[in-house]
Amino acid sequence: MPPARSQLARARRVVLKIGSKTLSQDREAMRRIAAEIQALRGPGREIVLVSSGAIALGVAKLGMRGRPREIARLQAAAAAGQTVLMNRWEEAFAPLGVTVAQVLLTHADLADRARGNNARLALSALLAEGALPIINENDTVAVEEIKFGDNDQLASMVVPLVDAELLVLLSDVEGLLDGATRVPLVVDVEQEARPLAGASTSGVGTGGMASKVEAARRATLAGAAVVVADGRVHGVLEAILAGEDVGTLFAPSARRIGARRHWIAFTLRPRGALVLDPGAVDALSKRGRSLLAVGVLGVRGDFRKGDAVTIVDVTGREVARGLARLSASDATAMAGRATDGEEDAVVVHRDDLVLW
Ligand code: GLU
Repeated sequence: MPPARSQLARARRVVLKIGSKTLSQDREAMRRIAAEIQALRGPGREIVLVSSGAIALGVAKLGMRGRPREIARLQAAAAAGQTVLMNRWEEAFAPLGVTVAQVLLTHADLADRARGNNARLALSALLAEGALPIINENDTVAVEEIKFGDNDQLASMVVPLVDAELLVLLSDVEGLLDGATRVPLVVDVEQEARPLAGASTSGVGTGGMASKVEAARRATLAGAAVVVADGRVHGVLEAILAGEDVGTLFAPSARRIGARRHWIAFTLRPRGALVLDPGAVDALSKRGRSLLAVGVLGVRGDFRKGDAVTIVDVTGREVARGLARLSASDATAMAGRATDGEEDAVVVHRDDLVLW
C-alpha cells in the first residue's frame, strides 16, 4: 500500500461531502451511507458531513417543473427542501443512535473572522457532544456575491475551520479520469490534475470535476488529504479509510499554509489588485519582505483598508494575495513613492501575505 494511502487510516477528523445526485433520489442510499459513516465514527475519529440536496428535494416538494433559474425560486426550493433533507438524515441516523445537528452557513459567515470563529466553536462543541454536524449552504439568503460557489468549495473551507486531516468528496464518478482511466494519486494538483479536469473555475466552483479539483487544491494546501470517489459503491468509505486503492487521492501539500493565511487566500474574495514592479515581486517572493508603496505600479478596484487584494506582476500573473493596509485611494496616492517612515508606506504587511 503506498504510504499516502496508509496515512488515511490515521485521520482523526474527516469532512465528508455528498452531492445531490447521490442523495436526492434514494432514501436507501442515505441509509447505507449513514451506516458507513457510523462505522467509521468512534473513539479517535470525528466526522463532519457536508450535504447537498436541499434544492433538488425542494423542487420536488413544491411541485416545480424542473430546477428553476430565478434566484428567488431557487432559494424557495432550498428552504422547502432543507427540512426534507434533514428529516431524511434524522431518519437514517436515528436507528444507529446518532444525533444529527443542522449547520447552515453562508460565505459571509466564514469571511467574517468573528462569525467564522463562532462557527468553529459551535462545530467543536457539537463534536464534543458526540453529535454529527450536517452542514449545508444557507441557500435561502445566499445570493451570488456571498455564495461559496458550491458545496465542494464550502467543504474545502470547512477543512481548515475544523482542522480536518481528510476531505472525502463523494460523487457519481470513479474519481479523476485520464481518458477512461482513473488516476489513483495526485501529488501536484496544478500540474497533474488541473489539465484533466477541464476549464479552471478560477476559484468559484460550478460543480463537476473542475470544482472538485479546485476544492482539492484548497484542502491539500490546508494540509489535508483529499479523496474523490464514487458514493454509489457500497463500502466506499470503509475502503478509503482502510487505504484501499479507490477513487483519486490528492496528497496533502508540502507547502501547507496556516489557517489564517488559508482564509486570506481562499475564503476572502479579493476586492482589488495591486500591480508590482519586478523589484517588488523579488522583495516579496525571494526576500520575504512586506509590500511597500514604492513598488506599486498600479492599483485596481475599490478596496478598503483590511480588504483582501490580489498582487500581480506586470504581465498580470498573480504572485500573491494579501490584506491591504491602505484603502485603494490611499494606495493610489502613495504608489511609486518612497517615504521615510516605512510603516506609513506598507501596503500589504508580510504577516498578511500568501505567496504562490
Ligand atoms: N446547497 C445546494 C443544495 O443543497 C447544493 C449546492 C451544491 O451541491 O454544490 O441543494
